[in-house]
Amino acid sequence: SNCLGQILTANRLMKNLEDEVKGRTHQLENVLAETRHLKQHYETLAMVDELTGLYNRRFFFAESKLALSRALRFSHPFSLILMDIDRFKQVNDEFGHAIGDIVLQDVAKTLLGILRETDVLARVGGEEFAVVLPNTPEDGSSALAERLLSAVRELEWAVGERKLHITLSLGLTTLPLPEKRSADSSRIDPGEFQDHLYSVADSAMYSAKTLGGNRQVFLAPKFLGGNNHQERNKKATLSDRFFVSLLMAGLTGLEPATSGVTGRRCNRLYYSPRSRLVSVK
Ligand code: GH3
Ligand code: MG
Ligand code: MG
Repeated sequence: SNCLGQILTANRLMKNLEDEVKGRTHQLENVLAETRHLKQHYETLAMVDELTGLYNRRFFFAESKLALSRALRFSHPFSLILMDIDRFKQVNDEFGHAIGDIVLQDVAKTLLGILRETDVLARVGGEEFAVVLPNTPEDGSSALAERLLSAVRELEWAVGERKLHITLSLGLTTLPLPEKRSADSSRIDPGEFQDHLYSVADSAMYSAKTLGGNRQVFLAPKFLGGNNHQERNKKATLSDRFFVSLLMAGLTGLEPATSGVTGRRCNRLYYSPRSRLVSVK
């Protein structure tokens, strides 16, 4: 009977131990799930802008480089639009920073509502947004830009007795289809070309601003080919700047004219007052 007692005690101990292990395993699983959740949370934080929920600058540049590589490899067109809110400092000054934040959130929502799921939209600066449009040629991105401009133009905020409206300045550029390129795309380095596209789109946006804002300006990137395309791209960037200064000098009176220069490194510049579109061809 003493022996039986010992077996029963051992059994009970064993059972307790099993329960204990089950309990601990359960706790461990909870901790693991929590860890996974936290990891995901911090990964999301690293790619998302907290105020607007859009992608942040860092994620955007990585993603847009991938999209550009794909466009180069599979011979797709690819467009880029940079956007900047006009006179946003004035909004903060007149209505307060909190209203400014709401405006930024509403603009983000409005842009997101118009774009396709495959378009990558990000907040790349305080009141600056950027979107890459895979598979979108020049005319498609220009039509889309017009829709973005008018959707934001129509937004209205009522602050007490006052009404608030804002406008955007858009800079557009496009990687055209291979048949429209003067250089072999396989030679183009995506990282390097991304920098070129951004500087072109930035010049375009700056021109839109200088022409009074609330409009889009398109500038074409350069495809000069040859072995030393790095050097040639640098020259192209310089000539973009040249076009922009030309634009500002020639179009400040908004002449309904085509200004342009021809030459080895110079293309033509077109301005259409009806569509308020400037292009370099
Ligand atoms: P422009 O027409 O030339 O673009 O003028 P701007 O006033 O829009 O441009 P500027 O770069 O002079 O000023 C940008 C302003 O955006 C200044 C800054 O206070 C504001 N801003 C940047 N980030 C935020 C933000 O997160 N919230 C708010 N409310 N304002 C911001
Ligand atoms: Mg800005
Ligand atoms: Mg601005």
